[in-house]
Amino acid sequence: MDTARVAVVGAGVIGLSTAQCISQLVPRCSVTVIADKFTPHTTSDVAAGILIPHAYPDTPVPVVKRWFRDTFIHLSAIARSAEAVDAGVHLVSGWQIFQSIPAEEVPFWADVVLGFRKMTEAELQRFPQHVFGQTFTTLKCETSAYLPWLEKRVKRNGGLLLTRRIEDLWELHPSFDIVVNCSGLGSQQLVGDPTIAPVRGQLLQVQAPWVKHFIRDGNGLTYIYPGTSHVTLGGTRQKEDWNLSPDADISRDIFSRCCALEPSLHKAYDIKEKVGLRPYRPGVWLQKELLAQEGKKLPVVHNYGHGSGGISVHWGSALEATRLVKECVQSLRTSASTSKL
Ligand SMILES: Cc1cc2nc3c(=O)[nH]c(=O)nc-3n(C[C@H](O)[C@H](O)[C@H](O)COP(=O)(O)OP(=O)(O)OC[C@H]3O[C@@H](n4cnc5c(N)ncnc54)[C@H](O)[C@@H]3O)c2cc1C
Repeated sequence: MDTARVAVVGAGVIGLSTAQCISQLVPRCSVTVIADKFTPHTTSDVAAGILIPHAYPDTPVPVVKRWFRDTFIHLSAIARSAEAVDAGVHLVSGWQIFQSIPAEEVPFWADVVLGFRKMTEAELQRFPQHVFGQTFTTLKCETSAYLPWLEKRVKRNGGLLLTRRIEDLWELHPSFDIVVNCSGLGSQQLVGDPTIAPVRGQLLQVQAPWVKHFIRDGNGLTYIYPGTSHVTLGGTRQKEDWNLSPDADISRDIFSRCCALEPSLHKAYDIKEKVGLRPYRPGVWLQKELLAQEGKKLPVVHNYGHGSGGISVHWGSALEATRLVKECVQSLRTSASTSKL
């Protein structure tokens, strides 16, 4: 086998970053990204894009921390390069505030973000309903810029982008040697995974250029994230809800919750409503699987189920998927050379 033909199913942040990583790090391979939806129509396009990771019940915390650290280092380098504006990646500082003292005053990711510390009494005076807070600098990844930027990178490395819905991974055999499944919520049907389900999120994108600090309520439900093109106001977490239409009552509720934290938002204008379905799974599924059928074999690397934190860990997760793809390529090359003997 000379060139390994790799198909990546999915063109959200997970699929595109995995495709980019594979084309950079796996020698002698071709990469084709296949998806029924590309930017600006994926869940990743709706994400608020703040880098604050989430713990997954079935993924060990040290693993999530490694993925987050890899992602933070990678995006920090972009943020301090001339690419920062095109990629939509920038540093942002602010406050995470709590109405009661949290179980973990220092979260597992505290030493990855920059300048993490507890808020002082003077800082907390700004939030009279809150008794505890953390302040730090993290990154914001504006996916409306980042996804097109990633697409360009994939193409520049020789990758192809193909619009197509896949009903069964076997459709990709024998045109491809290895399949990487980054189909997010689509994996419920594509690989029959009953453990993945939508967690609906609604948010607002508003113009309020005077807001410079992020504010996040510790429960993660109410947040204000300033960015380069808009300020993101959130949000909701609605389990098993597939409705992609914005709900006007929810938008009003989000707006009033955010105004309670940052009253100057009453003057915000040009308000847009967005809805996305987070691909929730108790743990991220990042593993190799060898499909076999009627004497044929198809190596698959799964990389999906990133729930509420896919942007925060995407690059670390892509690096790990790429390592698994390398192992598949190696074993295909070994069996190809053995069969020639
Ligand atoms: C409101 C909201 C706010 C969020 N905020 C943040 C945040 O601030 N920080 C953070 O880290 N995360 C955030 N997230 C979570 C983040 O958006 C997700 O974890 C991430 O986008 C998942 O990426 P993905 O590539 O797996 O999925 P998607 O972006 O859904 O991409 C899946 C891809 O697979 C394709 N596909 C699926 N099935 C098939 C098929 N059968 N055939 C062909 N193609 C298929 C789709 O077309 C699509 O291209 C937020 C999510 C929401 C909804």
